[in-house]
Amino acid sequence: MELVNLKVASDTASFSGAVKRGLGQNQGLYFPTSIPKLEDIDALLEKPFVERSVEVLTALIGDELGEGTLQEIVEAAFTFPAPVVSVNDKVATLELFHGPTLAFKDFGGRFMAQVLSRISHGEPITILTATSGDTGAAVAHAFHGIPNINVVILFPKGKISQLQEKLFTTLGDNIHTVAIESDFDACQAMVKNAFDDPDVREGLHLNSANSINISRLLAQVCYYFEAVSQLTAEQREELVFSVPSGNFGNLTAGMIAKSMGLPIKRFVAATNLNDTVPRYLKTGEWAPNPTVATMSNAMDVSQPNNWPRIEALIERGYLDKDCLRGECVDEEYTQIAMRQLAQQGYTSEPHAAIAYRAVSHDLSDSEYGVFLGTAHPAKFRETVENVLGSPLSLPQALVDCSSKESQAVPLPADYEALKAHMFSILK
Ligand SMILES: *Cc1c(COP(=O)(O)O)cnc(C)c1O
Repeated sequence: MELVNLKVASDTASFSGAVKRGLGQNQGLYFPTSIPKLEDIDALLEKPFVERSVEVLTALIGDELGEGTLQEIVEAAFTFPAPVVSVNDKVATLELFHGPTLAFKDFGGRFMAQVLSRISHGEPITILTATSGDTGAAVAHAFHGIPNINVVILFPKGKISQLQEKLFTTLGDNIHTVAIESDFDACQAMVKNAFDDPDVREGLHLNSANSINISRLLAQVCYYFEAVSQLTAEQREELVFSVPSGNFGNLTAGMIAKSMGLPIKRFVAATNLNDTVPRYLKTGEWAPNPTVATMSNAMDVSQPNNWPRIEALIERGYLDKDCLRGECVDEEYTQIAMRQLAQQGYTSEPHAAIAYRAVSHDLSDSEYGVFLGTAHPAKFRETVENVLGSPLSLPQALVDCSSKESQAVPLPADYEALKAHMFSILK
């Protein structure tokens, strides 16, 4: 596979190179120089999830990882299902939250961890990242127990829910967590300091494992195929995917799947009040507003970092721009959508509910809609209980970790303190 930096055309990379580097020169995103069209999609859709995913990924990545390696990676990463669950005659949801941290980020995180552990050939790597919730948990679980890779996760002390904190601070071993006595922005600034500090960057072989890494996107392409494989021929005819979007990685993956020939008619980019993309699609003007806090906090992003990849898919002629519409759903309609889903016997959480709302009133008579269920409702328990007015039971994974002790080390928001701590635990 060859990738090119969307900002610096002379900066190209193999798949392994792009995975290791994350971002290219000038903070540019890597993008495939060509996207393959698959031959016999119907036959592919007949195959089981793991076997089909290996074929899809081999078409994209080629043989650079060596014979059999992709098979091993996919088997180790995709160990849980992605079922399509019908909500009514016109609409179903693709549940992506059956992994260890109950959110779709497990797919990309686990795939990336398996890829990195194989392409680093035993050299030590340190993953350093800041989290305000979901990403940290997915990264921690994905890398837990992987030899030669240490993970350091910073989070703002006391600013994320107890349950979310327990999901990644109780693992131990190679997962080191640090509770910073400040806010999320301070955590991010400290991570940036570390990447700018050659002692730490070179000395500890830093990697960010963040959402722009190409390996995450390619993993996510696979579950769009899995969704279509579970639909009837009639439902596949005019299929619309609605994607609850923040940084737009999930939507990018779906649009790559369509570029490869998967029968998808169009997409709805569903956002909360942070509606830079829906406004851009309507007016042609890119005008981000300050980020506002909403119930669907994993989508509180006003400058989505994957957007240049979506533009590239359209500019390079893989897709027509008419295959994408944007829809912004406000806080009131998010709650209405959660209640409407509950009335149809389906308990959901704010992110998926936004995608449901965006697709359910936009379908023509002949279209069928699938919205992505990006997190288990129990991850947003308080909100869900408040909106629906009824108690929610916790899945076993959350019950188990909520009784364990946090192993996070508290530190002030001081870069030198972080640096000393990292050298003391990692050297
Ligand atoms: C991360 C996240 C999203 C947004 O996904 P993007 O790929 O950043 O657009 C939506 N829902 C949940 C629950 C998330 O954790």
